[in-house]
Amino acid sequence: MTKHVTHWIGGKPWDGAAGRHGDIYDPATGQVSGRVDFATPAEVDAAVAAAKDALRDWRRISLAKRASVLFEFRELVKANAKNLAQLITEEHGKVASDAAGEVARGLEVVEFACGIPHLLKGGFSENVSTGVDSYSIRQPVGVVAGITPFNFPAMVPMWMFPLAIACGNTFILKPSEKDPSASLLLASLWAEAGLPDGVFNVVQGDKVAVDAILAHPGIKAVSFVGSTPIARYVYENGTAHGKRVQALGGAKNHMVVLPDADLDLAADAAVSAGFGSAGERCMAVSALVAVDPIGDDLVSRISERVAGLRVGPGTDDRSEMGPLVTGPHRDKVASYLDSGVREGATLAVDGRVHPVIGGSSEGFWLGPSVLDHVTPAMSCYTDEIFGPVLSVLRARTYEAAVDLVNNSPYGNGVAIFTNDGGAARRFVSEAEIGMVGVNVPIPVPMAYYSFGGWKASLFGDTHVHGTEGVHFYTRGKAVTSRWLDPSHGGINLGFPVNT
Ligand code: NAD
Repeated sequence: MTKHVTHWIGGKPWDGAAGRHGDIYDPATGQVSGRVDFATPAEVDAAVAAAKDALRDWRRISLAKRASVLFEFRELVKANAKNLAQLITEEHGKVASDAAGEVARGLEVVEFACGIPHLLKGGFSENVSTGVDSYSIRQPVGVVAGITPFNFPAMVPMWMFPLAIACGNTFILKPSEKDPSASLLLASLWAEAGLPDGVFNVVQGDKVAVDAILAHPGIKAVSFVGSTPIARYVYENGTAHGKRVQALGGAKNHMVVLPDADLDLAADAAVSAGFGSAGERCMAVSALVAVDPIGDDLVSRISERVAGLRVGPGTDDRSEMGPLVTGPHRDKVASYLDSGVREGATLAVDGRVHPVIGGSSEGFWLGPSVLDHVTPAMSCYTDEIFGPVLSVLRARTYEAAVDLVNNSPYGNGVAIFTNDGGAARRFVSEAEIGMVGVNVPIPVPMAYYSFGGWKASLFGDTHVHGTEGVHFYTRGKAVTSRWLDPSHGGINLGFPVNT
């Protein structure tokens, strides 16, 4: 029997009959493993109504009580980390260790949010004028929504809702329809942690649900993570409806290797960051820039390592890389190998012939591939491939490498590999990119910093989690107060000035 995944509204699974559904696949077998209900505007309405009801009390509940629910949730996610990771592997395809890593990184944001009493502290100034004090507070925005991509079905939602809820908002999650089950386990853990009904809700679905969220007057802010065209769409439509929106988009992350770098370290890093999670990470390295004269040497070290990667089902402990998420996505990614060669690149490693251990032939397999001698005009460079394809470009100088990085329309992550501290420091300053790694290939910031790109990788002003996350989910208020003092009585029609 296949599983059935539905919405979570008002503290329990939705018990209605859905008119529209989507199939859920097991990417390692290529078979349908379940179906997910797709929300209509009516279910989005119901979720907003539940979240609005819950908001009245939740925003007023003490910081200590909010924090205690978060601590409880943290314990429960920890205790259920394996179950969450298993659901992720079953529907996304990533290997078990990678799925466990995703849960661990999401948990860090929950832990950060446990410190909400400290994070929401405002400022206070005594005697801004004689007998007058001023202070600032941050208050919740209201009902807020999160729309998330397939590639991190637990971590990316956890970038959003722990802080949103800790700040006193109520939340509606619209997860990816490709791997929706993790959202329901998280919802049931919230309930077990003692979160009041309606503070966390899930509506499953596709564009219909997203459009209903964007247009709904009861939703005050939207966090989105996904591809650039949809991020732009969500930003433009959400803001047109008067909402606060942060929309994180796609990426083309470069890794620049200078000639003085440790080439074994650089080759290990390129393989790990290029092919981990089958390249389906927004921080994956997809463009390797080898600065002359190390290109041939680096490509041969990378190719040797890639040949030994074990590709197989995520549930098999031997596998280092799993299948791609869907058949059409696998075919699209593979098409860049042909287009790359047609446009003049060299196929140094062809993932289509890579052996698969223990997998079904129907699975959505594509082994790791390396395209060498890629140039900026080729579609394998200009497009976000989002799969296990590493494109290698050659740059004559450091300056040419920086130009490549900065001319990319994307600005999510970048890494430089070098032993020259001065060059690294200059690169950190010159790269027009939101997250930079120095000899670190995937520079994902910790929960107490904020995650986000520049240019076409982020629409909006605030990055997610860290203090920028707290700002996104709260509105500032400045209060000026005077307690009655007879010496300050009397009418004064002038503009208030300090006395
Ligand atoms: P996607 O843009 O297809 O989908 C993201 C969300 O938008 C999903 O919930 C989906 O249901 C919804 N959606 C899809 N099409 C829509 C439409 N036409 N109208 C309204 N909503 C729509 O992204 P994906 O394929 O699920 O995820 C991969 C993408 O996400 C990659 O581009 C990757 O770089 C990006 N990503 C970015 C970050 C980041 O932090 N910048 C992190 C993870 C993933």
